[in-house]
Amino acid sequence: MSRDTAATAATAADVVIIGAGAAGLSLAHRLASPAAPTVTLVEPPDGPLRPAERTWCYWDRGAGELDEAVSASWSRLRVHGADGRSVTVDPAPLTYRMLRSADFERLVHTRLARSPNVTVLRATAHTVRDTAGGAEVRCTGPGGRTLALRARHVFDSRPPRALPPARTRLLQHFRGWFVRTATDRFDPAVADLMDFRVPQPRHGLAFGYVLPLAPDRALVEYTQFSRTPLTTEAYEAALAGYCRDVLRLGAYTVESAEQGVIPMTDGRFPRRTGAAVFRIGTAGGASRPATGYTFAAVQRQSRAIAAALRAGRAAVPPPHGRRAAAMDAVLLRALDTGRIDGPEFFTGLFRRVPPERLLRFLDGGTSPAEEWGVGLRTPVGPMLRTALELPFLPRRPAPAGPPTGEKHR
Ligand SMILES: Cc1cc2nc3c(=O)[nH]c(=O)nc-3n(C[C@H](O)[C@H](O)[C@H](O)COP(=O)(O)OP(=O)(O)OC[C@H]3O[C@@H](n4cnc5c(N)ncnc54)[C@H](O)[C@@H]3O)c2cc1C
Repeated sequence: MSRDTAATAATAADVVIIGAGAAGLSLAHRLASPAAPTVTLVEPPDGPLRPAERTWCYWDRGAGELDEAVSASWSRLRVHGADGRSVTVDPAPLTYRMLRSADFERLVHTRLARSPNVTVLRATAHTVRDTAGGAEVRCTGPGGRTLALRARHVFDSRPPRALPPARTRLLQHFRGWFVRTATDRFDPAVADLMDFRVPQPRHGLAFGYVLPLAPDRALVEYTQFSRTPLTTEAYEAALAGYCRDVLRLGAYTVESAEQGVIPMTDGRFPRRTGAAVFRIGTAGGASRPATGYTFAAVQRQSRAIAAALRAGRAAVPPPHGRRAAAMDAVLLRALDTGRIDGPEFFTGLFRRVPPERLLRFLDGGTSPAEEWGVGLRTPVGPMLRTALELPFLPRRPAPAGPPTGEKHR
């Protein structure tokens, strides 16, 4: 017997999920029920592969299954134009909700602990390959043991190593501070989704984002849609300038920070990488190209995958519909070429499109007629010219290097 074989322990389940971030946990959560297939969720041990705490926001209507983990919500949203004029909207019945990843993890892990069909395994996955009747995941488990996990289906949510070939490849990159001010400076009833009263970069666009948690507490972020992330020092300088010159916060302390990079690309992320191996989450293209919002798409996709598995099928529906993907490709290219003014474009949408329809549009839930109506409220000439040119543009490979991620302090 070889050393490798001696050290390898094999276990089997119907489903192996690799990674316990937003997508892995959401799918495990949907599958946690006695009637569901057996599931092994592979979660790396504490260390560099485990992302630090993050804030996930999304909009939803009515009571939701994740409400227990929602730490704040807002029924009014505001956008500040570069000219200083603001628009405040009420997208009822939708509300904007904030989840901290640690609260979501606690909620899901508590439910998984009560579900006899789910096993959570602390291990690092290395390779995934198809086998007869399914797939095998090779991992390093507790104590450095090599484990071979066999399953009928594998759902892999490890962050992508590189972005797919694309015509346009932008990044949404940002840093946020949880601030506490010396005096009451925030209105907890209104979330500022995009505040364009910040200096604009030469390429792409920049905005502030303020999620007020109390009159003296908020998450304040500085975000760019552009080709290259900034250094931490550059984000810090931009945030300090935003807090001082635009928000006029006066004295404040920064209690914690989060930083991230989300792909905004018209590249096609492969959803299937083997006969029994699927990619989910950001790795499977769940980040909406035009906005970077991912969490809501992950919830929709997890529900659909779980329903298919219960019906005895493995299927991963596209996280975004074809029309949404086509419209996003046009917008990304129009932004990247500078043909449209980004701040003017987004502020204009909030000024001209009914808010509930706009948020539904951003979630891919509008009809073709509604989308036509939204399209007419954008700069039609430059968008049309971009749409006509897109079919003739090649999809170019991405430079090597990790395209996504987060950093904390
Ligand atoms: C700071 C930040 C804030 C964001 N805010 C929002 C937001 O407000 N709204 C929104 O919609 N989207 C947001 N996003 C985008 C998106 O929702 C998140 O990136 C989300 O975490 C993506 O989920 P995921 O499961 O694809 O990836 P992740 O959540 O990153 O999960 C990947 C998992 O894979 C695991 N893993 C990695 N390597 C291995 C390995 N070898 N073996 C086993 N497991 C492994 C990691 O530990 C991790 O748990 C944000 C992103 C960041 C970075």
